[in-house]
Amino acid sequence: MTKINPELGYQHCLERVLISEQELQTRIAEIAAQVSQDYAGKNLILICILRGGVVFLSDLMRHITIPHQIDFMSVSSYGVGARSSSGSPRIVLDLNTDIRDRHVLLVEDIVDSGITLDYVLRILYTREPASLNVCVLLDKEERRRVAIYPRYVGFKIPNEYVFGYGLDLDEVFRNLPFVGVLKAEYR
Ligand code: 5GP
Repeated sequence: MTKINPELGYQHCLERVLISEQELQTRIAEIAAQVSQDYAGKNLILICILRGGVVFLSDLMRHITIPHQIDFMSVSSYGVGARSSSGSPRIVLDLNTDIRDRHVLLVEDIVDSGITLDYVLRILYTREPASLNVCVLLDKEERRRVAIYPRYVGFKIPNEYVFGYGLDLDEVFRNLPFVGVLKAEYR
């Protein structure tokens, strides 16, 4: 695997743009309209899983037209290799908010094996929210090992390593306004 050199810019490791800025913004506005309709009159709280979900959350919430709160959780990455996932996740930053009897929507960048979301959902269920659903920007369905049924999905994507729009490549390039596919030699 070739090492990434952030100084060279994202272009050297980008195979192609998978989802453009325009496509992302259009779809996020659609999801936000649906969320605003589905949760009207409910006490909505958006819970973002750090760090990948933060760009998605910030665009999504600005399109949501109903009152809502936000809070954050961080789950340790459980990768042994930099770009593979195995083992068990663990909460490293917990919520500040009591979610009992609240309508909770978990906002996540990507569901891959499903292990992270399954872990977080199990923990949050024990806190007895009024409802608990998932809103995920990207769904790599092919890689699923644990069943997860998100209520909202931005895009179903193929089994490729992606970065940009919150998703990192060795902790950089989260700021890109599009989702790109990593070149094969860096995988
Ligand atoms: P899962 O637990 O569903 O396997 O995936 C959990 C985490 O793996 C995601 O929240 C994300 O941080 C990371 N991940 C999975 N696929 C990708 C990918 O293609 N690109 C990036 N940057 N992260 C990924």
